[in-house]
Amino acid sequence: MVDHGPRVGNRVALTFDADMTDGMLHSLRSGRVRSYANLRILDLLEREQVPATFFLTGKWVQRYPEVTRRIAGNPRFELANHTYGHLAFTGDCYDLPRLPASGMTEDVAKTFRVIEPYGGRQTRYFRFPGLCHDKAALDALAPLGLTVVDGDVVSGDPFAKAWQPLVRAVLDKARPGSIVIMHVTEANASMTDEALPHILAGLRERGLVPATLSEVLAGG
Ligand SMILES: [Zn+2]
Repeated sequence: MVDHGPRVGNRVALTFDADMTDGMLHSLRSGRVRSYANLRILDLLEREQVPATFFLTGKWVQRYPEVTRRIAGNPRFELANHTYGHLAFTGDCYDLPRLPASGMTEDVAKTFRVIEPYGGRQTRYFRFPGLCHDKAALDALAPLGLTVVDGDVVSGDPFAKAWQPLVRAVLDKARPGSIVIMHVTEANASMTDEALPHILAGLRERGLVPATLSEVLAGG
């Protein structure tokens, strides 16, 4: 289990979670929400050739196969696992419905089966919804041989009303080896793409360079 890499060198990992719940799918179907895939983030990362790591839920991948192909097709992007339907692995986790302990191993294994056919830079990195976990959850996932990744820099982008606090949150905390947690979910994190250019500029000013999670965890 890691929440940052070695504190050496100048690299930081930008990570983007792609949440998808049944409730979110319902919002899309009803037309209340237009998109949970923030393509402006991808446009920017691609244009600036910035490495990043995407923690994908299985349901997001199934809803956005084209976007997933685009992520997998970028040699600077890594793909990681964020569960199948973003259910809670503990009680009392941001009001997320709870996944029974008996279903945990299969939930995460199934998600790898959904992501892996897309190829690209596949990893065994995994992030719990809401970062909520306990010993029972960790025990359930032990057979899968994965690395549980939290993060040491929480941008606070879900449901943010302005971009400036996100920039401040990231730049105040980021240092060598940091793992920055953001979201690519657009409607639920609508300020992230506006904050990102300022975050990239601020990291540059501090001499910090975005890298993939693998590179950051390897150090240097
Ligand atoms: Zn999430």
